[in-house]
Amino acid sequence: MKESYFLSRKDADGNETRMPIGVIKGHKPGERITVFGGQHGTEYAGIEAAMRLYREIDPKDVTGTIVISMATHVESLMNWIQFAPTHPEIADMMLEAATGSQYIINCHGGEFTELMHPYVICRLIGNEQAEALAMRMARALGVGIVSLSKYRGEPAPDPSGKRPAWWLWPKKGLCDKLGIPEITPEIGQVGDRDDSLMYGGIVNVLRELGFLSGPVVQHPEPKVIGERWWLTAEQEGIYFPVVTVGQIVKKGALLGEVKDFFGDVLQRVEAPDDATVMNMNIGMPVKKDGFLIWLGQF
Ligand SMILES: [Zn+2]
Repeated sequence: MKESYFLSRKDADGNETRMPIGVIKGHKPGERITVFGGQHGTEYAGIEAAMRLYREIDPKDVTGTIVISMATHVESLMNWIQFAPTHPEIADMMLEAATGSQYIINCHGGEFTELMHPYVICRLIGNEQAEALAMRMARALGVGIVSLSKYRGEPAPDPSGKRPAWWLWPKKGLCDKLGIPEITPEIGQVGDRDDSLMYGGIVNVLRELGFLSGPVVQHPEPKVIGERWWLTAEQEGIYFPVVTVGQIVKKGALLGEVKDFFGDVLQRVEAPDDATVMNMNIGMPVKKDGFLIWLGQF
């Protein structure tokens, strides 16, 4: 059986936020999984994959229940808002959609102005069994590169006013709250609508976990990212990248330049070590401390 409906919340000013949900109830009872598409509304591959999962999966092939949020942040999707913050109302609806599930897949990717080398974030929540399950899901997704991410509390305040990259200090997520395994596929870039990697990967995870019948593709053990660098702009300017995602760069290699309007170089961005370019901004404008590029070693 399939059903679709909207979750809904009102903010303090009475504005309504809605979240379109599709539920596939299998013909056999079993566990429950929640899939989120579009927590960031310009990351299209996850939205398209979520919609396709709801349309194409036949309840006859399902054991248990698959809950799918098609477009988790409707406002950012419909208004082209990049890097949209998750408002409390959205966080609350996400909690409702995930409560009762034993697993979470939260689809992300590159925003409209971002290139992204496909990888998957595997959340470490301090529960060995949940972490082992998340690693099994990450492997089944098939992108071959895993970033381990763990909430480590708030960083100590830095007297210089500089804060470590937010990315290295993940916030607590639904998985921490609910104590269940969660993976975040980072697939798709710059409005890319080809969701075969995202969709196919999720289908394989659903098969691996027993939600969906069909042959499971056995992928090799993924590589785990060790050292990583999150590079930002020293000042506002116009960015000119000279590398692309997936590219292996040597320590000291030029990655890009931040220039002023007349072409004078304000900042040379260089590789801090031998690494692979995972994700980068390709938009021209950058703010002071704005994201430029991140690199990983694996
Ligand atoms: Zn995202």
